[in-house]
Amino acid sequence: MARCKFCGKKLDDAGYCTNEKCPESIRAKIMQAAAQEETTATETTTHTKEA
Ligand SMILES: [Zn+2]
Repeated sequence: MARCKFCGKKLDDAGYCTNEKCPESIRAKIMQAAAQEETTATETTTHTKEA
């Protein structure tokens, strides 16, 4: 199991720090949210193109 290079906490399945107070975890949450938004936008665009 990999560990966070900042705080040494275990990383979750996606490779993100599980320590909520760790700056790496906060950064990961922002990146996850951005990735989800991108996925949703891509899906919407795809469906629009198909329709
Ligand atoms: Zn951490």
